[in-house]
Amino acid sequence: MQFRDLKAQYKALQPEIDEAIRSVIDSSAFILGKPVGELEEKLAAYVGRKHCVACANGTDALQLALMIWGVGPGDAVFTSDFTYFASAGTSSILGATPVLVDIDLNTFNMSPQALEEQIKRVLAEGKLKPKVIVPVDLFGQPADYDKILPIAEKYGLKVLEDGAQGFGGSIRGKLACSFGDISTTSFFPAKPLGCYGDGGAIFTDDDEVDARLRSLRAQGKSPTDKYDNREIGMNSRLDTLQAAILLPKFKAFVEHEIDDVNRVAGWYTKRLEDRFVTPSVPDGYVSSWAQYTILTKSAEERDNIREKLKENNIPSMIYYPRGLHQQQAYKWMNLDDSMYQNTIKATKLCLSLPMHPYLREEDVDTVCKVLLD
Ligand SMILES: *Cc1c(COP(=O)(O)O)cnc(C)c1O
Repeated sequence: MQFRDLKAQYKALQPEIDEAIRSVIDSSAFILGKPVGELEEKLAAYVGRKHCVACANGTDALQLALMIWGVGPGDAVFTSDFTYFASAGTSSILGATPVLVDIDLNTFNMSPQALEEQIKRVLAEGKLKPKVIVPVDLFGQPADYDKILPIAEKYGLKVLEDGAQGFGGSIRGKLACSFGDISTTSFFPAKPLGCYGDGGAIFTDDDEVDARLRSLRAQGKSPTDKYDNREIGMNSRLDTLQAAILLPKFKAFVEHEIDDVNRVAGWYTKRLEDRFVTPSVPDGYVSSWAQYTILTKSAEERDNIREKLKENNIPSMIYYPRGLHQQQAYKWMNLDDSMYQNTIKATKLCLSLPMHPYLREEDVDTVCKVLLD
């Protein structure tokens, strides 16, 4: 059994994907060829935003967005403590200071209450200027925007939605990547919508931000003369090949894969909910199930289960084994565990199970049997 079965997906879509790859090679337009623009239009329309700017990966997407707002030394950027490193690393690399926020244990997403406490703490300390909130749509589920957006408004902060895992999720029909002033996603192969290498995208409704992002992903070139640079940018474009591969994959994603993963999640929850803490999806929320993550009763129980799963050739993962405040790169911040009690609980008890649209009910049965035994 695969944790995320990319081969099964390729088998289902092979003729279209092979044809897409061949046509890019035929065209020789490897950089910013026609499929890139076509993909950008389709993704923007799907998410319900005016613009989509494709780029090289989800990390660059976050960094480019922060560059739009001139985030740098002295700025505080608030993000979740329980996420992939890039959510915070992208502010550090620009010289800003990430301020890590504890999570809500029911959703694994940033706790709005802890967020406001951290903003107040930073303001009281008076050393950093609060600038941006980076909520993460972790494991496929949108963050609590009903509470986070009013907090951003109250303190005058920008919202950068890290939708790397959230693409396809929604709140009351409004899709992930539409909640931030700027929103980003990743097409890393294992994400809900993945390509065959690295890729990412940035979403905005602002024409000027769109134009600047197109410039910043190409070294900061001016729109009229590409050898006259108007600011310092990056080299961060989505390959035409990846865009061409994403087009048929996006079609399958919208047509059935989102429904398929939700059906799989339902099979898991029905079998496991009496015995484990299964993922809770609030009313009106839809997850795109980047991960299906349960909580065990104890760290020992988790070890035992992982051992038994391994004996049965079933892969499982620990997302994530430590909070960002516990990472070596952030040791210098000397952050106290007491501020991150929910993150710490999650790191000790979380267990992610195989999850993808091509998982069959008998596979779910096999996994759950081991867990329940
Ligand atoms: C994967 C991921 C990223 C980074 O995306 P890449 O395409 O791998 O650079 C950022 N944030 C989160 C939450 C992610 O899961």
